[in-house]
Amino acid sequence: MENISAAPETQIKETSFLSLNPSTLEVIGEVANTSREEIDDKIEKAQKAQKRWAARPDAERKEIILKVAEALQQNSKHLAAWITREQGKPLSGPGANFEMQACVGWTQVPASLDVPEEIVFEDETRKDILYRNPIGVVAAIAPWNWPLMIAIWQIIPSLRMGNAVVIKPSEYTTFCTQEMIKVINTVLPEDILQVITGRGEVGSYLTSHPEIGKIMFTGSIATGKKVIEASVKNMARLTLECGGNDAGIILPGFDVSKHIDQLFWAAFLNMGQTCACLKRLYVHENDYEKVVKALTDYSSHIPMGDGADEASILGPIQNKMQYDKILDLILDSEKNGADVLFRGQKPDLEGYFIPVTLIGNVDNGHRIVDEEQFGPVLPIIQYKTLEEAITKANNSENGLGASVWSDDLNEAQKVAAQLQAGTVWINQHGAIHPLVPFGGAKQSGYGVEFGIEGLKAVSLPKVISIKK
Ligand code: NDP
Repeated sequence: MENISAAPETQIKETSFLSLNPSTLEVIGEVANTSREEIDDKIEKAQKAQKRWAARPDAERKEIILKVAEALQQNSKHLAAWITREQGKPLSGPGANFEMQACVGWTQVPASLDVPEEIVFEDETRKDILYRNPIGVVAAIAPWNWPLMIAIWQIIPSLRMGNAVVIKPSEYTTFCTQEMIKVINTVLPEDILQVITGRGEVGSYLTSHPEIGKIMFTGSIATGKKVIEASVKNMARLTLECGGNDAGIILPGFDVSKHIDQLFWAAFLNMGQTCACLKRLYVHENDYEKVVKALTDYSSHIPMGDGADEASILGPIQNKMQYDKILDLILDSEKNGADVLFRGQKPDLEGYFIPVTLIGNVDNGHRIVDEEQFGPVLPIIQYKTLEEAITKANNSENGLGASVWSDDLNEAQKVAAQLQAGTVWINQHGAIHPLVPFGGAKQSGYGVEFGIEGLKAVSLPKVISIKK
């Protein structure tokens, strides 16, 4: 077996690097790389704390998590300002304040759910009881697009089920995540939630550590596969959310004007830097002009600028790597004959701004359609038959989300049943909910988050079987 070493043999070489405000390119601070010795130490402390945490009555753990939600609520303005400064998304619109409200909600809901023991079989000879026990120490690798909300998705269910967590924020959004951990740790018992920082080999050292029992990862498919390799050493359980290249199909004759705000935000939420954003839109050739006009009219009224300015509704791309990747995809599509149908106003600022861009005259086979652009760019593809649209929508290695847009809900459900995705939304897209399981098909990942299913995923099923 090649390349399936656990912790790389070399030491973590780099000691620090800078984090920038993506709107202004102002330096926010220097991020330290946590050393291997410190990571070992934090995991050991987390292990000890986990035993004490798991021994507490369930009701006590629920109460503490509800107090975490209160602390997040009380500090939400402060944390939203940190998100805007480091991640870039505006305070206004579905931006940083919205992210903080999601953090509060996704903390309250797991605290209100129970996963009680279950008698899974019983007859006159035996009784089998299924318990959901803690796993131990969970390693969480959080991304930079929704840095606090996704960290909460990883931390809170894990704690709720009696685990400890060691979280590694993305190297691009370390400071805002650390601020949130500070707030959470004013409520939690000592050492149960640890944070490590850095880039290069910090994540792989953490995930391949022998004392890690579960890994929760959100990021790219390529890194998701490395996480699978890392888990060969410790056989950690995995929840992988590896993004998507979500397709949306507008069925013929749909009255797009009634749903234009949902359609716009489906594609451009967080400047398109969202795993379950609409990234390819299939439109019947007879409706194409109408849909392009509706999206163009709507897009031209959404202001883009520094997220700290309350007038901004759209902000910058979070980092230079992503900025270059999106520009490259736009350029490639133009070189290959695509039309730019609309390009919004770029603010006169230093940061990584890419205006909302609608691309036409493209099809499957163009990189802008086949690859996850993860940016404010929407390719709009014309189709002649529904069968063709469904085949093209399914022609992807990803399968996180998809959507169908129609005035006829029965027809929409028939199409939804044929789309290969973890969730298919109708007349909305990316509308996640803390009680509804969320996860991907195909290479979009393993397992589900949220709701009871999400709690089960951070627990160890254990059966006690009694002979009568
Ligand atoms: P990656 O998916 O590559 O993840 C980077 C993170 O993974 C870092 O924290 C890194 O830490 C860690 N990591 C790297 N190797 C391993 C490993 N073997 N085990 C555990 N952790 C590891 O994200 P990028 O930020 O580089 O973004 C790349 C692309 O991913 C984007 O262009 C976008 O398309 C997609 N993406 C998808 C997201 C989603 O929501 N699904 C979110 C963000 C990005 P370290 O360097 O210390 O190892």
